[in-house]
Amino acid sequence: MDIKSLYKRYSLNTYNRQGPVFVKGKGSWLEDSKGVRYLDLFPGWGVSILGHCHRRLAKVIGDQASKLIHLPNNLFSCQQAILAKKISQLSFRSKVFFANSGAEGVEAAIKFSRLWRPGCNQIIVMQNSFHGRTLGALSATGQKKHKKHFKPLLGGFKEARFNDFDHFKSKVSAKTSAVILELIQGEGGVNVADKNYVKKVAEFCQANKILLIIDEVQTGMGRTGKMFCYQHYNLKPDILVLSKGLGAGVPVSAIVVKKRIADIIKPGMHASTFGGSPFVTRVAGEVFDIIKEEDLLSNVRKQGKYLKRSLLKLKDKFSLIKRVRGMALMQAIECSCPTAPIFKTALKKKLIINSTHENVLRIMPALNVKKAEIDQGIAILEDIFRAIKKNKKCR
Ligand SMILES: *Cc1c(COP(=O)(O)O)cnc(C)c1O
Repeated sequence: MDIKSLYKRYSLNTYNRQGPVFVKGKGSWLEDSKGVRYLDLFPGWGVSILGHCHRRLAKVIGDQASKLIHLPNNLFSCQQAILAKKISQLSFRSKVFFANSGAEGVEAAIKFSRLWRPGCNQIIVMQNSFHGRTLGALSATGQKKHKKHFKPLLGGFKEARFNDFDHFKSKVSAKTSAVILELIQGEGGVNVADKNYVKKVAEFCQANKILLIIDEVQTGMGRTGKMFCYQHYNLKPDILVLSKGLGAGVPVSAIVVKKRIADIIKPGMHASTFGGSPFVTRVAGEVFDIIKEEDLLSNVRKQGKYLKRSLLKLKDKFSLIKRVRGMALMQAIECSCPTAPIFKTALKKKLIINSTHENVLRIMPALNVKKAEIDQGIAILEDIFRAIKKNKKCR
């Protein structure tokens, strides 16, 4: 069966798919239909944080699938309550709503912010941000290219420059109810928020009763060396959105709401048919346990440092690399040429990374990535950059 022609004929053409057809995965490795192995240093766009098919996770998936998969949210199950408690204890005094994707998490956060100070419905968002593709989340996204075909969007969003407190303040009005912030902009090119900027924004929000919504769909779940990235910043979000790594491959998102705001949300105000099923919440609970019991946060810090050092060494060798930036296992290199061809060449050399924002290569390995795997990836990148330098061409 020719899978690619099936895609061409039957699958909506919303993605630029490349490379072979993959059939299996284990840890940081994928295997294609011919048995060729690929090193995956960008597993699932930040989703597969335990690598592919973690043995313990697969076992729990099987076990829960044979016990109870789905239950509507007008009934009680154990797993959802236990996961909500776990998330609350690991973050701040809060209550949790479960949905199925990052965008849905952002949508819920936007709705909840409407209840905060009725009549105030303006939300500050950042230039270059990314919050998802549904219309509300898209309206909150500060990138024209994603929005241009889909007007009219939801009103009430004002864009501020990232890492510019004065600009942020100039966008605030009496009607401002919330700000939505990624502490490291992922799709926007891995831009890390300054500590001082975040401190000022957080203090300003608190003083002016503006909700601070932190979108940790990409940075959460240990990616930056702490369970949540906001913990590097000495702040407490009012609303925290988690998704990508939360289920390590199973679709689930969590909207974590500070008690004070949680108290104003009443039955019927929001819902999700699939949200927080016994199946996904059991899996997400296990993800937290695995992160803890395998001491993955230490590995993230250690390998993150090593990855950064290795990328900086590459930068010293190739003037094509302008900057290396990121935190722990969320790293990027900004190049002086388009990076889509580099992504393509890497794929041909059996390495999976990501190209974003025209000239940025993003590397976000599984939290249990090994030093030897980072070395293998860097060696392939070095080959590619050497060839570009020699041919003075990006492909
Ligand atoms: C990926 C992402 C989203 C959207 O998540 P989906 O599951 O694709 O809807 C939202 N916010 C951030 C920061 C993301 O990285």
